Amino acid sequence: MNQLRTAAELRAWADAEIAAGQRIVLVPTMGYLHEGHASLMRLAHQHGTRVLASIFVNPTQFGPKEDLSRYPRDLPRDTALLERNQVDALFVPEPSEVYPAGFDTYVVPEALATTLCGASRPGHFRGVCTVVLLLMRMSRCHAMVLGEKDYQQLQILRRMSQDLWLDVQVVGAPLIREADGLAQSSRNAYLSASERQDALVLSRVLEHVRQRASAGERSSRVLIQDALALIAKVPSARVDYVSIVDAQNLQPLQDLTAPAVCALAVFIGKTRLIDNCPLL
Ligand code: AMP
Repeated sequence: MNQLRTAAELRAWADAEIAAGQRIVLVPTMGYLHEGHASLMRLAHQHGTRVLASIFVNPTQFGPKEDLSRYPRDLPRDTALLERNQVDALFVPEPSEVYPAGFDTYVVPEALATTLCGASRPGHFRGVCTVVLLLMRMSRCHAMVLGEKDYQQLQILRRMSQDLWLDVQVVGAPLIREADGLAQSSRNAYLSASERQDALVLSRVLEHVRQRASAGERSSRVLIQDALALIAKVPSARVDYVSIVDAQNLQPLQDLTAPAVCALAVFIGKTRLIDNCPLL
């Protein structure tokens, strides 16, 4: 696997691959990789002939009180996982390579970023859109694979690719869970043994909401009240949000009609976890 550390190295690699007729699929990540990320790499191989992973803990998507400096890192382990999954190249830049002195241009999503994580993490999706646009342009990728774990991010980046005529096919990948239901996440590494148990409340609540919805309950208010009551039983859990939104425009639904998604963010101790599932 090629390790590329500068934007110039990445561009030179991409230029040569494209000149040779290859189709590049980008899988952007923040590292500390797990089986969810591995599934994205495998899916990427189905959408092109060269798979490029990136590992970059992007400072512009973290708020001032968030976990940027303590975000988990393990490059040797990540490299081994990528090699096992036949990834062709890894871009692992320093922040100054992505945001050189004088950098002054950002991409700001609008309506899709007003709900869910966009509402509780101001500026988060501005950072996400900006870094992903930079990665897309530096790598000249033809396609990009993103996980449904970050459902809002997937919808926003899909929209960005379309709105800005980026000509990048955005492929959504299914959410991968642990055997007991916990959504795989790099942030699970922060959890103590007892918090790890408590964190199961997220997937349990989603399953409960999904079942009640398929049994006929159509009131979001009732479903959300139910979810909040279940979360309240776990002392280490503090709700950031529980929402039921339209699967496309991400606006809250009062009554379940269109394809809908239930999404939630819950702090378990100090660790903020997110999860979601389709309803109906
Ligand atoms: P991250 O490293 O957390 O920024 O995630 C990088 C990419 O992997 C994003 O597109 C995520 O949606 C995706 N991802 C993270 N966790 C999972 C998971 N459990 N299942 C599927 N995709 C995931």
